[in-house]
Amino acid sequence: MKSDGAVPVAIVGGGFSGTILAAHLARTGIDSVLIDGSGRMGRGVAYSTTEPAHLLNVRAEGMSAWSGEPDHFAKRFEAEGGDRRGFAQRRLFARYLAEILEQAHSSGHVQLLETTAVGGAREDGEWLIELAGGNSIRAKALVLAVGNQEPEALRAFASAGDRFIRNPWGSEARSAVAELARSGDSALLVGTGLTMVDLVLSLDSAGHRGKILAVSRRGLIPRGHADFQPAPVEAAEVPQGRARELLRWLRERSAAVGWRAAIDSLRPHSQLLWQGLDDDQQRRFLRHARPWWDVHRHRIAPEVADTLKRMIGEGRLEVMAGRVVSATETDAGLEVELRRRGARQSQSQAFAYAFNCTGPLHSVGLTKDPLLRSLLDAGYVHPDRLGIGLEVDERSRAAGGELLWALGPLTKGRYWEIIAVPDIREQAASAAEDIARELNA
Ligand SMILES: Cc1cc2nc3c(=O)[nH]c(=O)nc-3n(C[C@H](O)[C@H](O)[C@H](O)COP(=O)(O)OP(=O)(O)OC[C@H]3O[C@@H](n4cnc5c(N)ncnc54)[C@H](O)[C@@H]3O)c2cc1C
Repeated sequence: MKSDGAVPVAIVGGGFSGTILAAHLARTGIDSVLIDGSGRMGRGVAYSTTEPAHLLNVRAEGMSAWSGEPDHFAKRFEAEGGDRRGFAQRRLFARYLAEILEQAHSSGHVQLLETTAVGGAREDGEWLIELAGGNSIRAKALVLAVGNQEPEALRAFASAGDRFIRNPWGSEARSAVAELARSGDSALLVGTGLTMVDLVLSLDSAGHRGKILAVSRRGLIPRGHADFQPAPVEAAEVPQGRARELLRWLRERSAAVGWRAAIDSLRPHSQLLWQGLDDDQQRRFLRHARPWWDVHRHRIAPEVADTLKRMIGEGRLEVMAGRVVSATETDAGLEVELRRRGARQSQSQAFAYAFNCTGPLHSVGLTKDPLLRSLLDAGYVHPDRLGIGLEVDERSRAAGGELLWALGPLTKGRYWEIIAVPDIREQAASAAEDIARELNA
């Protein structure tokens, strides 16, 4: 790759989205620079875990990185003795992505920059991207593949000090897990979704045998995968435009064909259904149906569901519907006031550590990502109408910016189902074609 002048494409974020886009561009002979300063280049947050207990939550046969090559990962998994209907370890998927990145890199079309992008501006018809440490690069096109944003700060834990782990993916979380495993003390997990599941598995694998309390407003936890008879539907059979009617249809269909078949039959139509709801209906869906939808739609491997069940049965894991009223740091950890859903009074419990497992930030305007912040402040990008991601058009181009694309979770306001590999790979393939068209125009 020539390094003088502007590179054709700068991709910020070396997780799945950025990596597979760079690989697509390399296949079409377009040079790109892939920028990621987290030490997770080619893996991103989801696939950086080294723990064998952390499994994919999509069957191997659904995890190909390449659009149009559905068996790409399944064959790789089978070659290692895996079952295509099974759930591979996430660290194996990380090795698969590393191979894809290595191939793209050795083609000479992808340059890797292990640093953080801290600002961006349009100058003389190019993107000027400032990097941590004071350097900058120029690019004709810019792609934001910065992934999910760190979870929101929780007000109840404002004075909880270091015993409250704000980022469940950071090194503090790993140290806290190791300390809990040694001491056997109790842990509080705030949030009961996929992040909670990961933390519970990490604690269990580390040898923690103390109590874990997981709390969320409704106390819903992800359901397990199981085999079922598919029951596909045509888009025209599904009510469009009203969230309530859609959910009623889903309930009736679940009774007829089973909830897994009913939910999965919506997959091919989910982006269309989401876009058929107006702002008010989308907000209603987020407020009332999202927790229910998430636990049924984003299911966990059966062996993971069994582990949770076993731990609940042994009294080591309790899942509570309720909320944290306050948390105060003590010499031994945290004194936490909890109120069960429907209860009039709160109860106090002691924990050595509490973890924020509430999942990604839902309000992009609150992002701490320096590049995103700078682009938002300068008006190059705008929050979408719900504020959960960036406003993008049907080709994932960011509204307000020239030769600017966004990929993955940042675009969920437009697509909703755009957080998992099967959806992002299609988006990356289309964006690569669109970028090639624009650059060659
Ligand atoms: C724990 C977990 C498990 C999952 N399991 C599955 C699964 O089994 N199957 C499935 O299909 N999906 C799964 N997903 C969902 C999905 O695969 C990921 O959300 C997806 O990989 C998103 O990738 P991404 O590249 O958009 O974001 P990320 O993986 O978050 O990568 C973004 C990268 O950008 C970097 N970055 C951010 N800002 C900057 C900046 N300013 N400068 C430089 N670098 C920056 C970050 O450090 C990060 O490395 C899982 C998600 C999580 C969190």
